[in-house]
Amino acid sequence: MDLYKQVLFAFIVLLTAAQTRAAPEVVIGEHPIKQTDFRMGYFVDASHNLTFDQARAQPFNETSNRTSLGADARVAWYRLILRNASDTDQKLFIHLPHAYHLRSVEIYEERDGQLRQREQLNMNQAADSDLMFRGTLVFPLALPAQQSTTLYLRSVSYSHQWFAIDIYNERASRLALVSVNTDIALMVGMLLALVFYNALLYFATSNRENIYYSLYLISGLVWIALSYGLIASVFDGYGDAVFQLNMSLITMPIFLLLFMMSIFETKLFYPTEHRFLQALIALLAVTLIWSFFDISAALKPASSLAALMMLVTFSVSISLYRKGHPLVKYFLVGHSFFVLFNILAVLTYKGILSPTYVSSHGVGIGIVLEALTLAFIISHRIKLLEDMRASQEDLKKQADTDPLTKLYNRRYFFPESDYLLKLARSSRTSISIVTLDIDYFKRINDSHGHASGDQVIRHLAKTLKEESRTIDLVARLGGEEFVVLLPGANLMEAGQFAERIRCAVQALEVTSNIGENIQVTVSIGVAEIDTTQESIESALARADGALYEAKESGRNRVCQAEPAMVFSIEALVDRVSD
Ligand code: GH3
Ligand code: MG
Ligand code: MG
Repeated sequence: MDLYKQVLFAFIVLLTAAQTRAAPEVVIGEHPIKQTDFRMGYFVDASHNLTFDQARAQPFNETSNRTSLGADARVAWYRLILRNASDTDQKLFIHLPHAYHLRSVEIYEERDGQLRQREQLNMNQAADSDLMFRGTLVFPLALPAQQSTTLYLRSVSYSHQWFAIDIYNERASRLALVSVNTDIALMVGMLLALVFYNALLYFATSNRENIYYSLYLISGLVWIALSYGLIASVFDGYGDAVFQLNMSLITMPIFLLLFMMSIFETKLFYPTEHRFLQALIALLAVTLIWSFFDISAALKPASSLAALMMLVTFSVSISLYRKGHPLVKYFLVGHSFFVLFNILAVLTYKGILSPTYVSSHGVGIGIVLEALTLAFIISHRIKLLEDMRASQEDLKKQADTDPLTKLYNRRYFFPESDYLLKLARSSRTSISIVTLDIDYFKRINDSHGHASGDQVIRHLAKTLKEESRTIDLVARLGGEEFVVLLPGANLMEAGQFAERIRCAVQALEVTSNIGENIQVTVSIGVAEIDTTQESIESALARADGALYEAKESGRNRVCQAEPAMVFSIEALVDRVSD
């Protein structure tokens, strides 16, 4: 039994030794040194609390210098064996470009079986640390000629274990640190411009979709800035407070759903779909509240929620599409971009796809493409709303005008003239009314036909329009009877206007549809409205009285009405007391 144990022990020691010997090694040669693609060892500490001595004795697996171990590897150890193959001593700089993502990092340097250096960095204090440069942790290391050294790095992440190491000499290190993420800054800048534009649109129009879209964009750009280290490199922000900003991963879908509800008007027109979206928002809202207390835990169901979200938004969109919503097809296209590029990114992070520029920036590209498509939907909806308003205005105009002459009708004339009378009353200016009737119109109809009669009416309307000012209110009250309200005109001026109309009509040359010349005249009644007491109806009756007089006294003439004879009690008392 003892022998058996000894053999087994010897076997394990041999196996561990073999693994240690087979461990990948990075060979440092002559300058320039720029190692950005090599192999290293890793070990996941599931207990989260192994000491250095315990960890270094564990079996390490092999992985690339850029690696993603997922959410189950909160604490991971990496081992890097560096061998200086040159004949000169080398000064190296170990870069951890994704350090801003982490909770803490520990670095152990071991040479000839002795621990030479040990550094520990809690990211909450990273802004004050000499090791941190705009999100990248830089660890300087002297490596004598023809010697080897082993680095152990303990990485504690908030959620996903996402880790990278590069090795440079001094000059290459400086160059790597100054290369800024121009492309990411461009993405963020574009989204920022859209945020401002839509916020302004919201303040101008109060359309809720604009503010939801703005908030959705803000969430998206916070997340992009966070994951590409822009917050670390621009604001020197790290640690818990910055990690809390991952809440944007939950607010983004919430605002996207609110945006969908608002732009597709689901509450009003698609109640079933509306309830699905509401349920999803409720679920996300609970996660959001949870994230205030424990963001790391709340982010755990994030990927399942994201999958559920895509399922619901796609089903709802397809359902709305089948019901014929005009905008939803664009949404489907934009949202497909988002999903497609995100899948690319996730496959890359999981190591299934080899990283390319597009796939490793998949999330950012997906957000930008979706954001641009949604911007298009917003502008398209503004056009739809404009068209709707224009057609409503058109309907109102149709209801207010007479189809034959395009003059205002009775329906429009009375309320509008009441308003103009009130204005005249308050500004103490004169206002007059003129009524007009075609002479012997029955005869015109009888001898030239009804169509020619209509032609005469149209010509007369045109003459009235031409002779009146823009402030005058010209209307066709019925048949061949017209009325003109003249703000600012007293009886004399209204009489002159009427006379001008009478002459212009007499001079009209209307030809019937068989080419005959039609002679036409009008009789006109004029009244100045007594703004102190008279109503439009009463003034119109006086003008009609004058018109009747004009007809009686031979037609083709203008008659003026006597001043208003109806006095109010107050006016009467005033007069008596005068
Ligand atoms: P008077 O000089 O007394 O006004 O004689 P009149 O023949 O014009 O008599 P009246 O004003 O009562 O005539 C109204 C006629 O106008 C009756 C109707 O046939 C004709 N009329 C009313 N509306 C229209 C219309 O829209 N088109 C045409 N062609 N005729 C109309
Ligand atoms: Mg008439
Ligand atoms: Mg007539």
